[in-house]
Amino acid sequence: MNTITMAASPFIDKRLDMGSIATALVEWAAYPVAAWTKDGRILIWNGGMAALTGWDADGLEDENIYSLLCQDDKAAGSMARVTNQVLSGSYPRETDVCMRVQRKDGRDLIVACRPFPLLKNSGGPIGVAAVFQDLDKIGRPIVARALDPSSGVAVDQELGTLVFRIDAGSGRLFFVNNLMSDLLGYSQQELIEDQRLLPSRILPDYDESFGSAVESAVRGVARSVEVGFVHRDGGEVFCVATLYPLKGAGGRVVAVEAVGRDITGRKQAESRLERSLQQLREAYSRLQVQHEDLKSVERLKSQIIANVSHELRTPLVTIRGYNDLMRQGVLGDLTDGQRKGLDISARSIQRLLVLIENLLDYARIERRGLSPLRETFNLVDTVRAATDDIREDAMRKNLSLDVILPVEPMFVRGDAKRMRQVFLNLLDNATKFSQVSGRVTVKCSMTAKNEGCVEVRDEGIGIPESELRRIFDSFYQVDGSTTRSYPGAGIGLAVAKEVVERHNGRIEVESREGKGTSFKVFVPLEQNIEATTTTEPALVIESESP
Ligand code: ADP
Repeated sequence: MNTITMAASPFIDKRLDMGSIATALVEWAAYPVAAWTKDGRILIWNGGMAALTGWDADGLEDENIYSLLCQDDKAAGSMARVTNQVLSGSYPRETDVCMRVQRKDGRDLIVACRPFPLLKNSGGPIGVAAVFQDLDKIGRPIVARALDPSSGVAVDQELGTLVFRIDAGSGRLFFVNNLMSDLLGYSQQELIEDQRLLPSRILPDYDESFGSAVESAVRGVARSVEVGFVHRDGGEVFCVATLYPLKGAGGRVVAVEAVGRDITGRKQAESRLERSLQQLREAYSRLQVQHEDLKSVERLKSQIIANVSHELRTPLVTIRGYNDLMRQGVLGDLTDGQRKGLDISARSIQRLLVLIENLLDYARIERRGLSPLRETFNLVDTVRAATDDIREDAMRKNLSLDVILPVEPMFVRGDAKRMRQVFLNLLDNATKFSQVSGRVTVKCSMTAKNEGCVEVRDEGIGIPESELRRIFDSFYQVDGSTTRSYPGAGIGLAVAKEVVERHNGRIEVESREGKGTSFKVFVPLEQNIEATTTTEPALVIESESP
């Protein structure tokens, strides 16, 4: 209903026709209804209006609604302006005005007021009739804040929020503000006239949640909900809205009001983020597959290394055995030349065996198959044994080999054979990377923290600082070219580090290019040794100068 046709007010103007307005009053019984003339003279004031404002209809015959409800001239001016717009036909149909009005007891009220032209039977306007809703009652601080106190009147658009209202009884959409109609791309008129339009634009995923939020508000419980719509141009738009029950004077929910804001930008950002996350997830699973592939290639590689090394070691041990027998003359007398030749082969065989041991250990480490650390051994003995192994090479290079060892044993729990291999690797490097006639020092001592410390120091070529981080990587060599001057496979230090760490120890390196290198191995000593060792152990210094 857009207009109320009436000729009289039952309560105030006795000259108006009671019968013709009765219909209108019954229809709006649940709402506060008032009507007034262009200059503000009150024509109709129903019970709902009395309950809303505290002003009874009796005695209002000569009252002016502008001065009765508006606090000041400005607010009264705004209300008069709305009245003029309605009477001149320039006020938009089915549109509410938010107003701040004053009750009889002086208290402020925020109301939504929907004005209609009040027409005579002849068709001429006699005033404005309006239906009021108490917005304060349903908790609308946002409206109160947005109202300009100086103007006293604000329309919903000015609140910066999307607003639409649905009739609680019929489910009819009866109000949509500009922002909401802009969001959907349809005019307010189109949305109101075609009642199927708004529901049909709701994206399927949001249909149910929106429906149940409306139902909940109809039952009197406000709910917030996110809703997605298809815009007129086919794009998707989103809003988050709180659906409030709008109650009539009798406390009955008469309408549901949705107040919300446009969250399309946020949703678009979210979906861009979701797409990126999805791409990341896909990339991650591709990487995982590649990682698995690489791991199986790695496993295959260590399997091959283990098998080949094992096959090489067996005949090599036999060759060494016969070589030793020949060198000892067990298989017949030798000429000096033959003995020299056999000595050279013995050293090469030894070098090959060390390489094979390292390769086997590398393969074991890769398969996490190093044997458990069960035995207790004397660290000093392993250092001495490794030094003995390298002595011949050092002598051939004319190196001074200084060995400083304590007399007292230093017991370590672990694997003596592998530890000896660690020191042999360090000594082998020290010898290899030393210039002819250089010096290699091996020193074994105990730290204040009851650790055994074995230092292997040389005065050789040194390692550039930038390379220090990588020398413990498998197969890494500072000079990795095929034309490099020093032999090796690049796994000695990788194996040494792994073995030392398995002994709960650590390996440290200091080096200066052109000056030399020092490797220090720290391993925890067995507790009982700490108890028996009260003073620094005496030192045995074995110095071998060429
Ligand atoms: P390699 O069998 O090549 O010696 P390692 O794993 O034992 O393999 O050592 C890795 C690399 O670290 C060597 O190739 C070398 O470049 C560098 N390096 C190790 N020890 C020394 C040292 N005492 N002096 C100079 N460079 C060294």
